Amino acid sequence: MRQLIAGNWKMNGSFAALAAYAGGLKAGLARVSAVDLLVCPPDPLVRPLIDMLASESVAVGAQNCAEKRAGAHTGDVSADLLAELGASHVILGHSERRMDHHETNAQVRAKAEAAIGAGLIPIICVGESSAERSQGEAVTVVRAQLAGSVPEGFTGVIAYEPIWAIGTGKVPTEDEITQIHEAIRTALVRQLGEAGAGMRILYGGSVKPDNAQAILALPDVGGALVGGASLKAEDFLAIAAAAAGG
Ligand code: PEP
Repeated sequence: MRQLIAGNWKMNGSFAALAAYAGGLKAGLARVSAVDLLVCPPDPLVRPLIDMLASESVAVGAQNCAEKRAGAHTGDVSADLLAELGASHVILGHSERRMDHHETNAQVRAKAEAAIGAGLIPIICVGESSAERSQGEAVTVVRAQLAGSVPEGFTGVIAYEPIWAIGTGKVPTEDEITQIHEAIRTALVRQLGEAGAGMRILYGGSVKPDNAQAILALPDVGGALVGGASLKAEDFLAIAAAAAGG
């Protein structure tokens, strides 16, 4: 299966800097044609980025959506509107949202249902804290997040993002990544049957150009969710090239 390299800009980026980023990405696309690329900027930049990348093979997605499809929910953005904007994917249940906005598994699940209903591809994030890992709870925590956040009949992507590896420069060992990806696969097959067997499982947490190749070569790593290193087109492309074996 082609690997998916997804960039999560978080609350970064600007209109002023967008054209330079899009230009940088377009200039390097030829060498990463073997992977699927996705960039998830803040919502106001979704449409402008799609327009700047027009006809290029880069998908553009969002970082969150509302649980409800429409109505009296001030400040929320619906999955339907994101789809209308041209977004293809939406990141859901990122640990920063689970922490900053107290999002529960049930809310992530409702958002995933709304996203699928709107035609978006959800990327559901799961991952343990440093304390949970040191207590030997990593697999248990991730299994519980999957059981609570992944709706029945889910079609989408899962991202394993250990919280302690996000933005810290710390990365799990290859064995640790392999062990959790195996546990995620088993849980997905149990929950979703055949669909779970073929679902992409991304790794996220301090993926950089210099460690991408080793991480992306691990069994059952279907790509990467990249935060900080996705903000520079050159670094994002270098990670994508590593996925392509370049
Ligand atoms: C993320 O925010 O999803 C992430 C993985 O961040 P970083 O790559 O900066 O660790």
